[in-house]
Amino acid sequence: MPSAAPMRTLAVIIASLSFGALGLSCSGGTSADSPPATNLPTVVVTYSVLAAVVGDLVGGTADVVTLIPDGQDPHDFAPSAKDVETINDAVFVVANGLHFEEGLDGLLGKLRDADGPVFFVGEHIAVRNMAEGDDHVADHAATDPHLWLSPGAMLEMLPALATELGTALNTDLTAALNAVSADLTALDTEIDDIMAQVDNCKLITGHDELGYFADRYNCELLGAVIPSSTTTSEASAGGLAALKEVIDEHDAKVVFVGLGTPQAVSAQIVKETGVRLVELSTHVMGSVTSYADFMRLVANQLADALK
Ligand SMILES: [Zn+2]
Repeated sequence: MPSAAPMRTLAVIIASLSFGALGLSCSGGTSADSPPATNLPTVVVTYSVLAAVVGDLVGGTADVVTLIPDGQDPHDFAPSAKDVETINDAVFVVANGLHFEEGLDGLLGKLRDADGPVFFVGEHIAVRNMAEGDDHVADHAATDPHLWLSPGAMLEMLPALATELGTALNTDLTAALNAVSADLTALDTEIDDIMAQVDNCKLITGHDELGYFADRYNCELLGAVIPSSTTTSEASAGGLAALKEVIDEHDAKVVFVGLGTPQAVSAQIVKETGVRLVELSTHVMGSVTSYADFMRLVANQLADALK
């Protein structure tokens, strides 16, 4: 029988090995002594921009997996059998909701109905309604899902997320919540300063995607190539005629386009009105890796084109 002292030492070594594995989620050890990184609990987040915020909150306590590959349009994503498995195996799932991830509505709804661990950000913020006349597609699209384009909305939902996620991970996320909240508050001020460079912020976009941003930073939404809260709607002849009138009336110079904006239609608008197209990444991270850089890039591109 070993004496008590070596047993205690062994317990300390095992404990420190476990903590080491937690801290280094990218270490590739797979032996029994050094558990693989996949032993960390998996938190699935539907899209990349939201995943960046969730990643800041959980730090090294979980593996954050982004379901919809960055670069794909989240409005228009259909899950594979493997994606279904990934969601079902997750300790916790974070989704936007408000019908943003249209192709995941059924799957996430089933998870919710079964009291599964799913958090819809849209249930924890003041939801923006689409302006009357903006959206003729369907009643369920009458609310605006583009909440991540305001750090204020992220701040609003964060306490509830930290509580639910902390319970699922059996970890106290209070310190992380405070740190991320402070960062988001500073980011909000920074973007306010960037947009203050624009005297008269009037926006024409690919679809109706900058509502939360416009409400927060005093911009006016003039119109959109696809006058809808989703890229799965289509541009119409009537809508385009109305948009051309708006461009003339306000002497607009720029249309901000992106993922899901039909190129042929944008080209037609350029030809008929002489506006300039500016590519804006509002739904995917693209070249940046943090939420703060994502928002800075959006704000700087808007300000540079409009000032
Ligand atoms: Zn959108």
